[in-house]
Amino acid sequence: MATYDDILQTIGRTPVVRLHRLAPEHVELYVKVEAFNPMGSVKDRLAIGVIEDAERRGDLKPGQTVVEATSGNTGIGLAMVCARKGYPLVVTMAENFSVERRKMMRFLGAKVVLTPAAQKGSGMLAKARELAETHGWFLARQFENEANADIHSTTTAPEILADFADLGLDYWVTGFGTGGTLKGVARVLKEHSPSTQIVVCEPDNSGLLGSGIPQARDEAGQPAGSHPNFRPHLMQGWSPDFIARLAEEAADYIDMTVPVAGDDALRCSRQLALQEGIFAGISGGATLAGGLQVAAQAEPGATILCMLPDTGERYLSTTLFDDVSADMSEEELDISRSTPLARFDAPPPPPKDGEKPKVVEPTPAAEAEVEELIADTAQPVVMFALEWCEFCWSVRKMFAAAGIDYRSVDLDSVAYQAGNRGGQIRAVLKGHTGWDTIPQIFIGGEFIGGCTDAFDAWKDESLQELLKKNDVEFDQGFARDPYSFLPAWLHPR
Ligand code: PMP
Repeated sequence: MATYDDILQTIGRTPVVRLHRLAPEHVELYVKVEAFNPMGSVKDRLAIGVIEDAERRGDLKPGQTVVEATSGNTGIGLAMVCARKGYPLVVTMAENFSVERRKMMRFLGAKVVLTPAAQKGSGMLAKARELAETHGWFLARQFENEANADIHSTTTAPEILADFADLGLDYWVTGFGTGGTLKGVARVLKEHSPSTQIVVCEPDNSGLLGSGIPQARDEAGQPAGSHPNFRPHLMQGWSPDFIARLAEEAADYIDMTVPVAGDDALRCSRQLALQEGIFAGISGGATLAGGLQVAAQAEPGATILCMLPDTGERYLSTTLFDDVSADMSEEELDISRSTPLARFDAPPPPPKDGEKPKVVEPTPAAEAEVEELIADTAQPVVMFALEWCEFCWSVRKMFAAAGIDYRSVDLDSVAYQAGNRGGQIRAVLKGHTGWDTIPQIFIGGEFIGGCTDAFDAWKDESLQELLKKNDVEFDQGFARDPYSFLPAWLHPR
């Protein structure tokens, strides 16, 4: 272990892990877990490789905007590198890649420009190129930038050589998107470990390299339209609709291409998690599926290494998690019902005497404070709230969206904790409204109830009437169902 000067120094040096339950007995099957990179994918390597190469060449000036077309992981890696180094980043990405990816890039400060799914990978590429030309931005060009392959030659490949120095490596199995991993690693293995077979996996319905059909290119060398064999597939990050320059250049190193079915990719990704405790994405499952095909025909004692390009966490919204429910299964319900506590189908047991909460008495000061707050004509909308309660947050979101100005009195906030001022106000409210629950919302001194009462009042328009009566402005055009502001777990089942 070491301390690092910055996060970028933690890129690479990912672990190679042996599989036990998933590996056939006659071979030694290993995976290289690229999810150990700081942003969870192999593309962190490319991001630092391409950016630092451009800095060295003077192609990227301090503060210049970086732009790139990406299926997500490159954008996430670039977003990390650009955040650290202070470059603005614009990413173009087809709308069909997972939502997690977009949100992560935006969280890291990047701008994400979506492109129509129908225009596939080449659509997002053309958009990035156009933006770079129009605005004078630095285009990372991952599909043809030699720095992409080079970073794998200088990091991924030597790591593999070192890790298998004693064991020897018979098969190295990968997929390809840009072909950066493939070209960069394969050429080093061919030189320093010539007996290692280079195995390239492709979606079975979308064999591009395996087809032998070359990619059509325009005068500038850019792909001229989709490859004729391309079909949509679910291995996000693999085989775009064209053969990238770097992948094409790796063709001579390839000993075997292996077609992988989508169902096998999903199954292997799930099996990795279930049987080995390794959480990898769909392309990792696909690479393992290819590795298992190789293993089935491999000589006894063969060593096989499969690349796992990213983490499974990037696919929560995708078909990989289709069978994983957010609700309890029958089996889980049975476990819940097998003991008496904390169940949904039985009321909580009455508190034992010693556990009864102390009754808080309303104080005259708290009485006066509540009176003053709800009678304040300068702010007729008052919500007595808890700072992080999700019902309170739903009301806040709805009020903000409807342009309703309000005062939130947060009874459990630091300001209200001293001397249990919040508890005393709550006791006063209980005396006034008879309600124990929070939030409690008042408009012009009139109690309208809690969160769902406010939402219902909006729906039957009595809330709007009350707002008008008290001269409170709001957005007349606000038409969203207020219930949609509740967090998912609070939606009625
Ligand atoms: N799997 C995933 C999930 C990816 O994001 C990528 C990169 N597009 C790859 C595999 C392929 O890696 P490479 O671009 O180096 O060929």
